[in-house]
Amino acid sequence: MFKPELKSKVGEDISILLQLDNHAPSYICECGDASLLTVKDCQNTEAIFVSHTHIDHFIHFDTILRHQIGVGKRVVICGPAPLIEQAQAKIKGYTWNLIDAKAIEYEIREIIDAQTIRKCVLRPPFWHIEEVETLQSAVIYSNERFSVQFTALDHKIPSIAYLFREKDSYNIDLSQSELKGGNWVKILKNAFETQSENTEIDVAGKTYKARELFYLINTKKGDTLGIIMDHAAHEANHTKIKALFSGCQKVFIECFYKASDKESAQQNFHSYSEQSGKIMRECGVKEAIPVHFSRKYDENDIAEIVAEFNASFSPAI
Ligand SMILES: [Zn+2]
Ligand SMILES: [Zn+2]
Repeated sequence: MFKPELKSKVGEDISILLQLDNHAPSYICECGDASLLTVKDCQNTEAIFVSHTHIDHFIHFDTILRHQIGVGKRVVICGPAPLIEQAQAKIKGYTWNLIDAKAIEYEIREIIDAQTIRKCVLRPPFWHIEEVETLQSAVIYSNERFSVQFTALDHKIPSIAYLFREKDSYNIDLSQSELKGGNWVKILKNAFETQSENTEIDVAGKTYKARELFYLINTKKGDTLGIIMDHAAHEANHTKIKALFSGCQKVFIECFYKASDKESAQQNFHSYSEQSGKIMRECGVKEAIPVHFSRKYDENDIAEIVAEFNASFSPAI
């Protein structure tokens, strides 16, 4: 299960730390100036996801980099083109003559279009752009626990919205049978995952076909989490949001303006309270959290935005 945590206080630029149960690494979504993001959070981070590189979404990358120096691993950064050049330009703003060459390296996965991802590596001390590959894929990141799909929304520039999809998990329920646990449970799980229904499995001296034991398996559907940042509240964006986020468990969505400022929203290719709530309702999202409010608003304004969002997300009957 995903355990996302907002690391920016109200009034700060957005950053969300993502963790999972029984999984040590962390992930960062958006590099806003988030004062609640700790050194340890940054050091545990395996991958960073940015929607776009307006300053409020990328300014904190330098601090994350500062904390990650010395972790001795490769950290992935995902985002829209020209992220590779932009990350390199930020890093090259500092002097690196005393750094260990293995202190950190970044693999940047730059989204060129809906299906095309360019991968490069940047390493100290020179941080040259080393091309790895350009591939066709709708999945920008995956590991043993989850994968990440994306869609590019219109914010007058591409703004990437990410869908984190946890893999389904399985457990064996022996309470419905006379069988006792053992090494065969692992073999059965593996046969189920690979759909090898004819695998022979020995249980206490008796041989079964895997499919005869599949009834013991409970499937737990993987969790889903959406991060939808800056986007214009127009139909083309809403169509893309519906295509990717319908039925999602939890979504953080940008809610930059209140409804009375919708003209500013239109002008700046942003969304606003009512529209963000409406699209979340149309997607059938279970839990939707409005985030990323304009800095011109005070606490009362933000309370108003949240109320407008909620009224639109789950209207009173
Ligand atoms: Zn923006
Ligand atoms: Zn923004």
